[in-house]
Amino acid sequence: MDRHTSQRIAIEASLRSAQRPLSPAEILDAAKPDAPTINLATVYRTLKRLIESGLIRPVELPGEPSRYELAGLPHHHHFKCDACDRVFDVPGKCPSGLTDGLPSGFRVRDHEVVLVGTCADCGPRPTSARPSHRSTVSRQSNRRS
Ligand SMILES: [Zn+2]
Ligand SMILES: [Zn+2]
Repeated sequence: MDRHTSQRIAIEASLRSAQRPLSPAEILDAAKPDAPTINLATVYRTLKRLIESGLIRPVELPGEPSRYELAGLPHHHHFKCDACDRVFDVPGKCPSGLTDGLPSGFRVRDHEVVLVGTCADCGPRPTSARPSHRSTVSRQSNRRS
């Protein structure tokens, strides 16, 4: 098996075992034990190739660097911890009423919900005055690539 193949397998395995979206830096850390020659440039190059072949997809959160997750997961939402910057999957029910105010003629293709707060490892932040919950609706019908 050549070096590129083992790096690709290590990256895919990292994403599969993390069970949450990972940033390139997190992927690098997770893949390193299995692919010691890997570096951030090879992570980016491999991610690009895995996206092109439809095996993974980027997770875009507003104002955040991209994370990556396996493609083809069942619909789910995300939780971003603003203490440790990790993003988690939330397989909960979709919120109702998201499309109530939509003007007629608009067609929704997809939605994303991002919960923001602190994860169990980081604990509550008692001085925080920020709302602990935020929903965003995006990726509607007019996105171009
Ligand atoms: Zn955290
Ligand atoms: Zn949903």
